[in-house]
Amino acid sequence: MTKDLLYLDYAATTPLAPSARAAMERGFDMLGNPSSIHRAGRAARDAINAVRLDLANHFGVTQGQVIFTSGGTEANALALHQVQQERRFASAIEHEAVLAWVPEANHLPVTPNGVLDLEAAEAKLSEAEPGLVSLMAANNATGARQPVEAAAKLAAAHGHLVHCDAVQAFGKIPLDLAALGADFLTVSAHKIGGPKGIGALIVKDGFPLQSLLRGGGQERRRRPGTENLIGILGLGGALETIERYGDMAQFLPLMEQVIAHVGLQNVAAYGAERFPHILSIQMPGIKNQLQLMRFDLDGICVSAGSACSSGKVAGNHVLEAMGYGDRSEEFIRVSFGPETTQGDVARFLAAWDKIQNSAKAAA
Ligand code: PLP
Repeated sequence: MTKDLLYLDYAATTPLAPSARAAMERGFDMLGNPSSIHRAGRAARDAINAVRLDLANHFGVTQGQVIFTSGGTEANALALHQVQQERRFASAIEHEAVLAWVPEANHLPVTPNGVLDLEAAEAKLSEAEPGLVSLMAANNATGARQPVEAAAKLAAAHGHLVHCDAVQAFGKIPLDLAALGADFLTVSAHKIGGPKGIGALIVKDGFPLQSLLRGGGQERRRRPGTENLIGILGLGGALETIERYGDMAQFLPLMEQVIAHVGLQNVAAYGAERFPHILSIQMPGIKNQLQLMRFDLDGICVSAGSACSSGKVAGNHVLEAMGYGDRSEEFIRVSFGPETTQGDVARFLAAWDKIQNSAKAAA
């Protein structure tokens, strides 16, 4: 018997919003290449630019500051690519799409609560040649909110550019480029009900951005290649209903229900200022791979760290940076969305008990 699917992995990706679907359907009949001069091309370009304007308004910037990319990974790469490798810095809990660009010696430590250690960051950044500092707004593994504004101030004081990976915070908190103090900001559509494979880099006005790709003149030569028209329309459609994700109060009872059941001591970053829809929880003594398989048998989708292309577990580096050592392999991540109910959480917790009890019985 197949069990009804229970999806508790919104930090990995979200279901397509009806508004995004409808916008994409409109795009299927748009024939023109957005770079073509004729009317079919202009219609496609106008459709893209309407979304560009909506995004610009969302981040308090002008349209020329919005560059569409193939998602968060590419937007991160585009930002980090602006300075030489040895001048890139990032918190040790960044997504792999950032960390892979940053030499290990330039990973900035976090506190045991999974929040950037500002003092340690300042010590390092004050001595370094001016470069670029990358700090996420919300951690994808633990939900811990990062002190982007404070970090941006101190980074700028020492002459560094600031990049904020806001993929997980998009739609959850207001993201105004200037208010954050960032020069670059990354977002991705599929965390807010948009399609996968489309995102944007928001860039400080007038910054002479060096493209990663070569060829066409799209996105003012900063991101050559025929635009992903359907994806961009989907991003625009998702943006129309983004407030569904922004009401943090809807997630508080769900978070509290989980914490009351598993115990605060088993929640990572519990003392941090946090986003309540992402929880990293430990089942002591049981490896997360086994937990994931058992939950999956019960039709429940949760994850360990972030989902990466090979299906293997990435993201344990976050818990390791927080000092969990081998215990980091016992944590899973549950993440909620607007569709998640307390009944769903109760079903998850019943499965949690079942897994724990069967492990105890086998011991
Ligand atoms: N940055 C963070 C914090 C993420 O959580 C993710 C995706 O999980 C990414 C970047 C990558 O974004 P995308 O999947 O759009 O490439």
